[in-house]
Amino acid sequence: MHLRHLALTHFRNYARLELDLPLGITLIQGANAQGKSNLLEAIVFLATGKSPRAGSDAELVHWGVREDPYPYARVAAEVARDDRITHIDITLLPNKVPGRFRKQVRINGVNKRAMDLVGILLTVLFQPEDVNLVSGSPARRRRYLDIALCQMEPRYCRALSHYQKVLAQRNALLRRLAEQGGRDAEDQLRYWDDKLVESGSLVVARRQWLIHQLEEEAALIHLELSGGVERLHMRYLPSFDPGLTPGPHESYPGIQVLRERGVAYAHLPVEQVHASFLAHLQASRARELAAGMTLIGPHRDDLGFYLGERNLRAYGSRGQQRTAALASKLAEVTIMTRVSGHAPLLLLDDVMSELDATRRAMLMKILPTVKQAIITTTDWAYFQDDLLKQAYRLCVQEGTLLTNC
Ligand code: ATP
Ligand code: MG
Repeated sequence: MHLRHLALTHFRNYARLELDLPLGITLIQGANAQGKSNLLEAIVFLATGKSPRAGSDAELVHWGVREDPYPYARVAAEVARDDRITHIDITLLPNKVPGRFRKQVRINGVNKRAMDLVGILLTVLFQPEDVNLVSGSPARRRRYLDIALCQMEPRYCRALSHYQKVLAQRNALLRRLAEQGGRDAEDQLRYWDDKLVESGSLVVARRQWLIHQLEEEAALIHLELSGGVERLHMRYLPSFDPGLTPGPHESYPGIQVLRERGVAYAHLPVEQVHASFLAHLQASRARELAAGMTLIGPHRDDLGFYLGERNLRAYGSRGQQRTAALASKLAEVTIMTRVSGHAPLLLLDDVMSELDATRRAMLMKILPTVKQAIITTTDWAYFQDDLLKQAYRLCVQEGTLLTNC
């Protein structure tokens, strides 16, 4: 996979950019607030149809054109894969509601849905805040799993988006039923149970699969990063045990137990998850009606990192947490390559400043195995001479890229 060309118009602080990118390592240096993160954001936006950080697409449109009679922003790229070249293009056009924008997605000149972009350009983005993957919120870890899975499997992306819509509707119904004291609940909830389980089962099964894959790779990388002393484990921490289908009156492991030790299945068929999810939902009926919301399902999932039996979130030092985060991010590159048959584009956004010298050196050792990487930095001094010589070097100043630096 090779991102050969990137073109931006009115995207963030880039008024206009046409950039050819070689295979191998591209290093982009710039002081704070010059456009390093914006550039990588544009690439992820093209890869996934979503910005990794903006709350709304309107934020992506250059401030300078907001008052124009017809403001717009455009991001386009040329991606080569097995000698086949794909042109992808997202234009943000003004919506009927002032200040809002709609996405127009084109692939090889043909209008498509944003979801069709997924999989054309595979990326792994590592941002400074990712060092908090282990210590941060469960939502951040779910997002990490979702972004990787969505890129590898469009059907996962569809199931996840369906699940989120169904969940919102089921929660609204549970809230109403809770207010009414649970009258006629069963008939209405049955319908939404089925819908929730239909899409949620795939989400659960694929997350469990990915974590199992990541664990093997991450453990190897982690051994190297940590100097070969401790073995890293990654565990799926679901809100119900997807490999277990309780009968109507059977007890089953509570969420606390699952949160501590998690589950690890080498293979978990979707049908099994389906039966288990449904049974657990029905067993949670009274609790859900009392709470007025959906208490079990992948929206409550978490991912645990352990050294031996110790949970890194609770007991790890800051450095140990960062090493685990870096290992799992790098494992993502290997898994994506294996699953898709193509090496993803690695995007490192100013992460060198977040790592100590040992971890920086380890990261540098892994770089030559990546087919294409774009790395931003505030300071060239983070990189060794041989890497600086071999890399394509650019500087960014106020949304303009310069080659003579
Ligand atoms: P740092 O090293 O601090 O992370 P950076 O080079 O990554 O800096 P960016 O996040 O890319 O900086 O932002 C560059 C500039 O773009 C900032 O000054 C920011 O305020 C500006 N910016 C953000 N959104 C827009 C927009 N919609 N229009 C114009 N400029 C914007
Ligand atoms: Mg930045």
